[in-house]
Amino acid sequence: MSLLSPRIEGYIERSSWIRKMFETGAELKKKLGADNVFDFSLGNPDLPPPPGVKAALQDIVAKADAPLAFGYVPNAGLPAARSALADHLSTEQKAPLTAANVIVTCGAAGALNTFFHAVLEPGDEVVCPAPYFVEYGFYAANHGGALVVAASTEFTFELDVAAIEAVITPKTRAVLVNSPNNPSGQIYTAEQLASLADLLRAKSAEHGRPIFLLSDEPYRFLTYDNVEVPPILPLYEHSVVMGSFSKSLSLAGERVGYIALNPGMTGGDTLLAGLVLCNRILGFVNAPVIGQIIVTEALRDGVDVSVYDDRRRSMAAILDDVGIDYTMPKGAFYFFPKAPGGDDLAFVNQLLAENILAVPGRGFGCPGYFRLTFCMDKAIIERSHDAFARAMKS
Ligand code: PLP
Repeated sequence: MSLLSPRIEGYIERSSWIRKMFETGAELKKKLGADNVFDFSLGNPDLPPPPGVKAALQDIVAKADAPLAFGYVPNAGLPAARSALADHLSTEQKAPLTAANVIVTCGAAGALNTFFHAVLEPGDEVVCPAPYFVEYGFYAANHGGALVVAASTEFTFELDVAAIEAVITPKTRAVLVNSPNNPSGQIYTAEQLASLADLLRAKSAEHGRPIFLLSDEPYRFLTYDNVEVPPILPLYEHSVVMGSFSKSLSLAGERVGYIALNPGMTGGDTLLAGLVLCNRILGFVNAPVIGQIIVTEALRDGVDVSVYDDRRRSMAAILDDVGIDYTMPKGAFYFFPKAPGGDDLAFVNQLLAENILAVPGRGFGCPGYFRLTFCMDKAIIERSHDAFARAMKS
């Protein structure tokens, strides 16, 4: 008899292909050496943190012998971190945020779980366009909700507001968008987002309960060809922005993120108090204090985006050369090409036979596509060319 709950056992069962991929990858690396395996499966930001992070750490070391240097801090985050975040987000979001609109969380993942815990009732639905970050489904279910997937436009994965409208019901509590998108690299336009906001205004009025518009933005800083990510907060009263410094400061292991509420939201104060409580009772207590200090000091610093752009171009050149169809990512660090032959699992296995690790699109709600990450040296990307060419021939 299993010691696990049937729910978790079911999760493990359903995600067994992810485990299989991971285990096969680890075995391959052991057998062939890490340099001979092209691991495009993991989204672990590999650029060194920018200089501001090191400078902040040196300040932390200098004060490390003070009493309570690393003691508990307020559940909402360090006051200085909240103020710095409010300042920064006011510019990004073109909205007048204050510290009272922002809390510090354990990454964007912690932000989503905290928010869902605070607002979802059993059976509530969170609508999300596909493809989507695979953890969203678990996060909604963690708090009694269900993820409802809406289609996006084929191949380009633009926001399809009509497809979202088709799945909204009286149980819809939130619509969750992620732009720049993991895995498609798509950035939703201001017009598409404004039209989504109009839809949510109408549906909230029809159902007599506000539908939140949640924007998960850990890749906001990472855009190419001067494409801008439109701000969400000016569009809609019940809008909420979440994000983190996992990618922008290469700080993924330090677990610092945030939730920012629209300052014009009626009842926002009570919602924020609930979020602070949930951050505490979910066991996060407070986001790591070292990370909060780093973020406060290094907030406006960032990794060198041109390195990611360079890698993006190298990867695109390989895909062009071997004849794999894709939409050029406008942001984030992923390609989401069409699986040649149409079967994503079969093609990912074909890649695996050439020591290339990729993730099938079905894991992101989009069978028929596959994800490649460019979180590795350009030299490795370039060396993978012949392996891709062989996989295409087979
Ligand atoms: N949202 C998206 C779209 C992501 O890709 C990730 C991580 O890859 C997260 C949220 C969670 O990131 P973190 O909790 O490290 O901020």
